Order: sequence, then structure tokens, then C-alpha cells
Amino acid sequence: MALVAEKAKGEGPAIGIDLGTTYSCVGVWQHDRVEIIANDQGNRTTPSYVAFTDTRRLIGDAAKNQAVMNPINTVFDAKRLIGRRFSDSCVRSDMKLWPFKVISGDNNKPMIVVKYKNETKQLAPEEISSMVLYKMREIAEVYLGSVVKNAVVTVPAYFNDSQRLATKDAGLIAGMNVMRIINEPTAAAIAYGLDKKVSSTGGKHVLIFDLGGGTFDVSILKIEDEIFEVKATAGDTHLGGEDFDNRMVNHFVQEFEKKHKKDISKNPKALRRLRTSCERAKRTLSSTTETTIEIDSIFEGKDFFSKITRAKFEELNMDLFLKCMESVENCMRDAKIDNSIIHDIVLVGGSTRIPKLQQLLQDFFNGKELCKNINPDEAVAYGAAVQAAVLSGGVEKVQDLLLLDVTPLSLGVWRYTGKTTVMIPRNTTIPTKKEKVFTTIMQNQYGIIIDVVEGERIMARDNKLLGGLVLSGLPFSPKGVPSISVCFEIDANGILVISAEEILLTGRKKKITINDYKNRLHSWEIEKMVKEAEKYKAEDEENKKKEEAKVLFELYAYGLRDSVSDLALNEANKKTIVDAVKKALLWLNANQLVECSKYEDERAKLESLCNPIIAKAKMRQTAGSKSQACSKVGR
Ligand code: AMP
Repeated sequence: MALVAEKAKGEGPAIGIDLGTTYSCVGVWQHDRVEIIANDQGNRTTPSYVAFTDTRRLIGDAAKNQAVMNPINTVFDAKRLIGRRFSDSCVRSDMKLWPFKVISGDNNKPMIVVKYKNETKQLAPEEISSMVLYKMREIAEVYLGSVVKNAVVTVPAYFNDSQRLATKDAGLIAGMNVMRIINEPTAAAIAYGLDKKVSSTGGKHVLIFDLGGGTFDVSILKIEDEIFEVKATAGDTHLGGEDFDNRMVNHFVQEFEKKHKKDISKNPKALRRLRTSCERAKRTLSSTTETTIEIDSIFEGKDFFSKITRAKFEELNMDLFLKCMESVENCMRDAKIDNSIIHDIVLVGGSTRIPKLQQLLQDFFNGKELCKNINPDEAVAYGAAVQAAVLSGGVEKVQDLLLLDVTPLSLGVWRYTGKTTVMIPRNTTIPTKKEKVFTTIMQNQYGIIIDVVEGERIMARDNKLLGGLVLSGLPFSPKGVPSISVCFEIDANGILVISAEEILLTGRKKKITINDYKNRLHSWEIEKMVKEAEKYKAEDEENKKKEEAKVLFELYAYGLRDSVSDLALNEANKKTIVDAVKKALLWLNANQLVECSKYEDERAKLESLCNPIIAKAKMRQTAGSKSQACSKVGR
């Protein structure tokens, strides 16, 4: 399976997007290298946040920056919801921590409830992710100065079919063709694969250690003859930099209590300020051994000044660091390889900058050097950008690169005994195709139900039911006679197709793709969301125009106010202008985002009142200066 199979030549540049849980990053292949693109704020990563207000929708930094003032309408972590069901235990527990509301929609689908322009709206996680993707696309378009249609989007290795498909849907809603969904560790491997050629025979094994803000993934890849194969994955969906921040916050809450006999943990504002300072201190401790925390008037007028050493930070988090190492061990065990076999260890995610973690990892691999020459926040987008260029025919060098991923969980059939028959074991390299022959359990059995489950538990009910098909119209026959060949096939995107065929007597067949999976959006729902997305886009553009009209009016009003003192005006005229400007600024304050025509009308009113006064004053001034000039000549 060569990557060049899905070329999208002649359609402009294709981009790579790392759609992260907390931050996203976009890159493009240009001038024989990857360019990671900064957003309008100059940041190379953009918060995966979307906010809704009375007047507008905000995405990225703008959304995150107002989160404190508008928590219930500021949505983040959509990646934790995408492709999941409302009843999933992880959704139920995550919900408790989110300030925004999540309800159960049709087919048990989680829906996010927000208030936008004074109307209550229900949004699917795909819609929120599509808004983040739309923003990342816009960032790339501004940089490239051209329309971007194609993208490669990354997902965690543990994402199942419905999560991958829902991410693809998010791309569609954002008006993009998602050329390929690839695993994040695979993308990181591609990023490094370009830099390093494998020379040794027998290939080499690479360990990807990805620790971000809230998630942790370990993957082992085998690279041979420019083929990347994911051998095993492990990790924790709720472990990352935020946990390290929390440990430091708790430490300082206790210290404050000891010093001042006051508990600040009940005060959200104080806690928020402390958390921001702790995150900053944590980053500093990656490059220094001691730092300070200084927060003025944190609680009941009391200031908070303290110090923390790197050693203390490490002590506070050691159990979490060791938990990460345990996952590394598990991953090695699953891949059935010894740590001496690992050739490279690649660091991905901002939290891998923590020196203690680097040291633990290095010690585990007997002092091996870690690969950190690509910015860990950008390595995944870097690889996605390379992959996008390969798919669009932009990178000649790696056209023969093969990419192989693995199934994160086992896939099987729910047997009549209640047990699971595994069809595709966990960590099987994809694409893959597995077949097994089943038969009937009763005489004259008319049909057979193939329920597909995902998971490692023996009893099928303990695994996740992905969907199923019924093959009916079997011929009357004694039990055990019909031969039903069941086939599980996963394509390069990790999408599952299940087929069943009675091969002995009738040749009857039935096939379902995961597209039939009921948690996925219907095509009409996607169409509706695409229309909504276009509406949002039009509204955003309209808001931009309103903003510009407002700023122009504001500039004019301030300009008038500032020039009053320079003009030869009598007191009455001066007062007229000053009062009119004051009135205009008050009006502007009360009308933050109204129709462009309203700003233009108000501005015209101010102009018609002030311009004649100013024109007269200027004429007087010119006449004065002319006579002054004449008098100079006369002297
Ligand atoms: P990511 O999701 O990969 O962007 O990682 C974000 C996480 O990395 C956040 O929790 C940051 O606080 C953390 N991080 C970024 N830089 C550093 C650093 N220098 N030292 C420790 N943690 C960091």
C-alpha cells in the first residue's frame, strides 16, 4: 500500500493538522522543508477552544482568553467526546469537570449545549472540532495566500473507528477533504524518518513518548526499508501537564493555609491565578533549578510569594512520572521486544521538556540519547505536513514510504455463548483482513446475527458493541451445515468493513462498513452542519466588517477629540465637538457589534456636525498663517 495512491495533485497545497485535545498545530511542506505556521497572534500552536457569545463565535486564542468570563459557553476537549456515546463511562466522568453542558442527543450521541446570540444551540462534538479545523485551515490560508482544500489530520493511536470517522466528518464540515487520518505517533515517526535514514539491515525500532497537556501515549514503531509499522501502543488518556500543575497548586494551597490560616481552594478566582502561576513555574523549572511564585492580593487582600525548587516539583510528581515509565514497560511487553532493541526514543508533547522525565526515560534505555531536535509541540503536525505533501505529490523523496498502523483494541464477534471470538487481535498491523467460518446453532435457522465488539474482555457484553449485521435467507438445513464466512477488513484509514457470506449453499452476502455505525453522523446531518458552518463563516466575515466599521468610527472620534486643542476654536464650538465626541464614544460603548450601516450613520452624523466647524477653523488658521507668511516677506 503505497501512500501515493491518494494523490490530490493540482489542488493547491495540502496541509498537515495536529488536532490536539488542548492545542492544535498546522504545518505545510514548502521549499523542501516543513513550515509550522503561526496564527494571527504569532503562536505556533492554537488552543482547541471555541466560544459563543451574545454577538459572535470565537475560535482559538480569542476563545481561550475569554473562557473565565464565559465558562459555560466556552467549549474545549471536544476530542474527548468525538465519536463517543453519551453513556460511555469516560464521557460521564469527563462531564463532571467541564463547565459547559453536555446532554444526550439522538442515538445516545453527546451534544454540547451553548448559548449563541441569545439562542440555545446544541452542537455535535464533530461541529466543535470542525470549527477548530476551520481555524487551522484559515491560519494556513492566510500564510499561503491561497485556498487550502486538502489536509492530513492526526488522531491518537487509541482512537477507534467511530472516533476516526467522526474526525473525518469534522474535516468535511470544515469544508476540507481529509486525505488521510494518521496516528499521532506515526506522524512523529515520519517527522524523524525524514531526518534519519535507516541503514541497518533488519530495520530499527523507535519508541514515541508523547506527553501533552492532558494525554499520554507511548508507541513502538518498527522502521524498515522506509516502512513504518506501529508494533504496540500504551498510555493514559488522562495524564499530562495539567496533572503536574495541579500537584503544584495543591502544594501551594497547603502552604498558604499554613502561613495565613486561610483556605484558598474554595475561591475559584484565586485558584485560577495560582494555577496560571504554577504552570509558568513548571515551565521555568525545566530550564532552572529554582523559581518563584508572586501573586499580588491573591485572597482577602493577602499577597502570596513563595519559591519552589526543581527537586520539590519532582518529588510532588514522582508517582506520575513513574506511572509514565510503567506504560513504557507495558508497551515494550506488548511489542515483545527488549529495551536494547530500541534504536531511537522520540519525544513529543510539551511535557517531555521536563528534565526528570527525560532522565527516567534515558536511564530506562541505558543512557540512550533522546531525539528532541524537532520541537515536541510541533513534531506531530510536522509529520502530518510531510504526509500531506506525499499524498498530494509534493515530496518526491518519500513517495515510496509505506505506513502501517495497528488496531488499538481487539475486534471480534459476539458468540451465542456470550463470549467474544477475536477476529483481529489488538496491535495487528493495518490494513488487514481476517476471515473465519461460522455456522448455525439450530435446525432450519433462517438468519445469523454478527455483532461486532471492540475490546479485550472475554465476555462480549463487557466490550464495546460497534454495530452488527444480520445475514438472513439461509436455506433450511440441519444445524451446523451452512458455512458463513465472516470477514473483518480494516483499510489504511483504520476504517472497518464487515462482510458475511453463506459460502456452501446459497452464496448470500451482506456487508456493512462502519459508515452504518449508528453513532456516526448521517449524510443529511453532515450536509446540515456544512450549511451551518457556512453560516458561521458568513457571520464571522460580517462581524469582521462590523468590527472594521466600528474601529474606523472609533478612530475618527478619538482623532477629533485629540485635534480639538490644536484648532483655533471658540469655547462654544470646542464644547460642541467635545460633547459630540463624548456622546459618540458612549454610543460606541453601548453598541459593541451592530450593523455596519449603523456605525456609518452615526459617524456621518458626527462628521456633519463637526466637519463644518473644523473646516472653518482650519480656513481661519490657514488665512492666519498666510498673513504671517506675508508679513515675514514684508519685513
Ligand atoms: P502539548 O499539548 O503537547 O502542547 O503540551 C502542553 C503541555 O506541555 C502543557 O501542560 C504545558 O504546561 C507543558 N509544557 C510546555 N512547555 C513546558 C516546559 N518547558 N516544561 C514543562 N512542561 C511544559
